[in-house]
Amino acid sequence: MSRATEFVQQFQKEVHQKDPNQTEFLQAIDEFLSTITPFLEKHPEYVEKNILSLVTEPERLIQFRVPWQDDAGNWKINRGYRIQFNSALGPYKGGLRFHPSVNLSILKFLAFEQVFKNSLTGLPIGGGKGGSDFDPKGKSDAEIMRFCQSFMTELIKYIGPDTDVPAGDIGVGGREIGYLYGAYKRIKQYDAGVLTGKPLDFWGSQGRTEATGYGVAYFVKELLHDLNDDFTNKRVFVSGSGNVAIYAIEKLQELGAKVITCSDSDGFIYDDEGIDLTLLKDIKEVQRERLTAYAKIKSTAQYHEGSVWDFATKADLAFPCATQNEINQKQAEQIVKNGVKVVAEGANMPCNAEAVDCFLENAIYYCPGKAANAGGVAVSALEMAQNSQRLSWTKEEVNEKLEKIMRTIYRSCRDTAKEYGAGNNFMLGANIAGFEKVAKAMIAQGLV
Ligand code: NDP
Repeated sequence: MSRATEFVQQFQKEVHQKDPNQTEFLQAIDEFLSTITPFLEKHPEYVEKNILSLVTEPERLIQFRVPWQDDAGNWKINRGYRIQFNSALGPYKGGLRFHPSVNLSILKFLAFEQVFKNSLTGLPIGGGKGGSDFDPKGKSDAEIMRFCQSFMTELIKYIGPDTDVPAGDIGVGGREIGYLYGAYKRIKQYDAGVLTGKPLDFWGSQGRTEATGYGVAYFVKELLHDLNDDFTNKRVFVSGSGNVAIYAIEKLQELGAKVITCSDSDGFIYDDEGIDLTLLKDIKEVQRERLTAYAKIKSTAQYHEGSVWDFATKADLAFPCATQNEINQKQAEQIVKNGVKVVAEGANMPCNAEAVDCFLENAIYYCPGKAANAGGVAVSALEMAQNSQRLSWTKEEVNEKLEKIMRTIYRSCRDTAKEYGAGNNFMLGANIAGFEKVAKAMIAQGLV
């Protein structure tokens, strides 16, 4: 057994012993460790420096109480968090998630992956993540505002345009970022660069709303280009119907694909004519309704309860854009049976470990979220640059930069996988390429 293999195995044991209940965090670490040995064999100096312990330990975990009052006058308490994982490459950067499932394990997995994702963009940003177990579903606008104000009253102590710059994620869109920014500004005055994903009226960037969804489509565009293919008439599964899903559908349709599904946490739409995006946007972004409303209006659409990934119909590409672990092994086998050749993750870690193995064994092109969905954070970093310059770039400028960044990320995953003799294993490519830059910076900065 090589020294690097021994080092990785020993470390894996230790990390599982340290946080045995942090299932999602350990899942993300295991996935990373399954690919990193070839790099450590080539670079034994990182083994000497105990790099795995250093890179998997967050610099800081912040947890706080978020008190707020509902419309009926009841006193409510939620938990708020910010994980400041790694600042070797720049200020902590990563979204805020408001969802009842939020806990330390989920946020640590998201923050850990964010470190490598941000490194892959080539932009000067470190990694972080935060949020709350607050459930925005069914809350009034006034309740959302009060919650955001209370959340920011505490979070403000730890963030700043040059230290930690949060953005949106599940349950946190333009409306929430607006309320969070308002609360921040009331206390600290103008500091536009402290949050990204801001509405355009107050220093948001053109193209940020669309960036994650567009970015994942651009990533696959590059892959298809390598295969002498394109999106024309491809049948596509998309899951989710939130920010990432909607703008992935928009770009995929623009590039010639036919998207036949979208979903929420109750069920999914199958529309063999192709998803009607105008209708979907109206239901989700304007009416803030459930997907059942879509099937009531569009006669060609079928609504099914349960997961879209159990559904059997022919397709070419799959874009999971909802949440972590939405695809298990059985569902991955169904996706393979459906004829899918490319799985590209708009969401973070939507495929569990067995599902990823199933894709790799069946020679499916598997595009991991930390590379394929990096478009959102990339445009967030462009928003920070515009805020510092007090300038706004045009939609075309931002979009052109985004496409270029996604092309570079794709090539970096592809070329790194090849360099390490791993064929088309983009997961290995993404992990090694993202890790190398962070590790190099950390070692250069000494034992801190
Ligand atoms: P949104 O809140 O806008 O949308 C989330 C979508 O996923 C909704 O359709 C939601 O359905 C569905 N969903 C959430 N939880 C579950 C669940 N447990 N089971 C099934 N469906 C579920 O979030 P985003 O679109 O912003 O985020 C989606 C994913 O993309 C997340 O993994 C996020 O971390 C990742 N991501 C987001 C980025 C961004 O810029 N926003 C950047 C990079 C990654 P319902 O309404 O029923 O809850």
